[in-house]
Amino acid sequence: MNKTIGFIGAGKMAQAMIEGIIHSNMISHKNIMASAISEKTLEKIRNTYGINSTSNNKEVARMADILILAVKPDLHAHVIEEIKSVIKQNVIIVTIAAGITLANIEKSFGFQVKAVRTMPNTPSLVGEGMSAICSNDYLREDELAEVEHLFHTFGKTERLEEKLMDAVPAISGSSPAYVYMFIEALADGGVRQGIPRDKAYRLAAQSVLGAAKMVLKTGMHPGALKDNVCTPGGATIEAVTVLEEKQFRGSVLAAMEGCTTKVKSLS
Ligand code: NAD
Repeated sequence: MNKTIGFIGAGKMAQAMIEGIIHSNMISHKNIMASAISEKTLEKIRNTYGINSTSNNKEVARMADILILAVKPDLHAHVIEEIKSVIKQNVIIVTIAAGITLANIEKSFGFQVKAVRTMPNTPSLVGEGMSAICSNDYLREDELAEVEHLFHTFGKTERLEEKLMDAVPAISGSSPAYVYMFIEALADGGVRQGIPRDKAYRLAAQSVLGAAKMVLKTGMHPGALKDNVCTPGGATIEAVTVLEEKQFRGSVLAAMEGCTTKVKSLS
C-alpha cells in the first residue's frame, strides 16, 4: 500500500494495530507515524516498531493519508480541534474510539471530511483482531476497501450499519476481557484438581481457541456444537447444568448490557 498511516495516540490499542501492520510488510515502517504524550511511550514505539514518533499531533496529521484517532473518547474533540487546520485534503479519518459517531467527527471538523468509524480489539496484537467498520457518505467504496485492507493486516473486519456500532464493544471490543476471565477460571478449576498452573493455562486457552474455530469453520450452531460434547448422562452435561443454574448466559448478557450502556454515554 502506497499510503502513509498516522496514529494520534499510541496506547494499547494503537500498538496492537501497529504490530499487525508492521508484521504484514504491507506498509514500510517509514510510512507510519504515531504521536503520544509520554516520552516513555514514544521511545517504546520507536524502539519496538522502528516507526516515526512525535509528541506533536500536527506532525502526524500533516503527513497522514489515513489518520487513525486512537485517543480516549473524551479527547476526540480536543484532538480534532488541534489538527483540523493541517490535515491533507483527501485524508481518511479513522476513529477507533468507543461511542464516537461519524456525526461527532464531522461536527468536530466543521467541514466535509472522509470518516470511518471502527471498533477493533486487542487480539490485533497477534493478528487475530476483530474490527467492526462503517463510514460516512464522503468515502468511495474503494477508499473504504483500502481501510479494510489495512485492518486485515491484524485481523478480520465486519461491516455494520452505524446504528449498530454502539453494540460492538460489548461483543468484540471488550469481550477479550471476559474471555480472559473465563480462561483464568478454567485454569483455576484445573489447578484446584492438581494440574500445574502453566499446563492449566495452555489446556484452557487452546480449548477456547479450538471451540471458537469450530464455530467459525463448521458454521454449525453453537448450541449444536455444545450438544455434540454432551454425552447423555455424562460429565459434560453436569457442568452445563451447573452453568445454567448459576445463570452463566444471563450473566454474560447482563454484562454486555452494562458495557453498551456505558458506551452510549460516551458520545
Ligand atoms: P491507552 O490509554 O492505552 O492509550 C491512549 C493513548 O493516547 C496514549 O498513548 C496516550 O499517550 C495518548 N494520548 C493521550 N492524550 C493525547 C493527546 N492529547 N494527543 C495525543 N495522544 C494522546 O488507551 P487504549 O486502550 O489504547 O484506548 C484508546 C482508544 O481505543 C479508546 O478510544 C478506546 O475506546 C479504543 N479502543 C480500545 C480497545 C482496548 O481493548 N483497549 C478496544 C477497542 C477500542
